[in-house]
Amino acid sequence: MSIDKRQIEEFRERIVDVVQSYGIELKPKAGTLEGICPFHDDHNPSMRVEEDPFYQFRCWVCHQAGDVFDFVAKREGYDIESEFVSVAEVIAGILGTELKFTGKKQTVDEKQKIVNEKTIMEDLFHRADMVRHLYMEWCSKNLMETPAHLEYMTNDRPSGRSRLLESIEAHLIGLAPDDDRRLRDFIKSRFEELGLKLNTACLVASGLFTKGTDRIKSWYKNCYVYAQHDRYSQQKPETSDIEKDQS
Ligand SMILES: [Zn+2]
Repeated sequence: MSIDKRQIEEFRERIVDVVQSYGIELKPKAGTLEGICPFHDDHNPSMRVEEDPFYQFRCWVCHQAGDVFDFVAKREGYDIESEFVSVAEVIAGILGTELKFTGKKQTVDEKQKIVNEKTIMEDLFHRADMVRHLYMEWCSKNLMETPAHLEYMTNDRPSGRSRLLESIEAHLIGLAPDDDRRLRDFIKSRFEELGLKLNTACLVASGLFTKGTDRIKSWYKNCYVYAQHDRYSQQKPETSDIEKDQS
């Protein structure tokens, strides 16, 4: 007997309801949800919960991460591998439903397939995140090397220059390029250095690129991009348009 696979998926997709059932308020922020992390002494919301397609949580301070099963296992003190059914029972209780079991025993292959699918999703989530960090790193460097923009941004506020430079150094602000080829090459080379594969899926999952008819391209061109959070948190760039005569 094993838990119905569809039910496992259904539970996974209810991560927001389950997290909130522990009294954790989740508020929308930069395309995801954010709340107080229950796994460390958190005062600023450090935990992100992503819905479709990831259904994952992650804390940017204590680095706890995973899906709804990992969340409940950690919260309730269960071992996710050996006590999976107990974890599922807790989730079923929270969601007011009962566990469904399939009659036949899950084969080793089927179990492996579920583990593989989970690993693939988590892997994509982490790589998309890395794309965001590298994107901001490159764009910050791009801004630093474009004096006209530095001048423009501090034109009326010379006193703000040091703060601007600090922000650039922390990769909190940058300049998206007109032609994103060098940016993509940079991200690709950093991935290769780490022995990781950069594919279309993780570029698109980062939210910064879109798949055009013939090639992948950046959503943002020739505009300032801002990371939403401090250096310890996920950096998802936002943009502001630059006046045409400044480009
Ligand atoms: Zn935490």
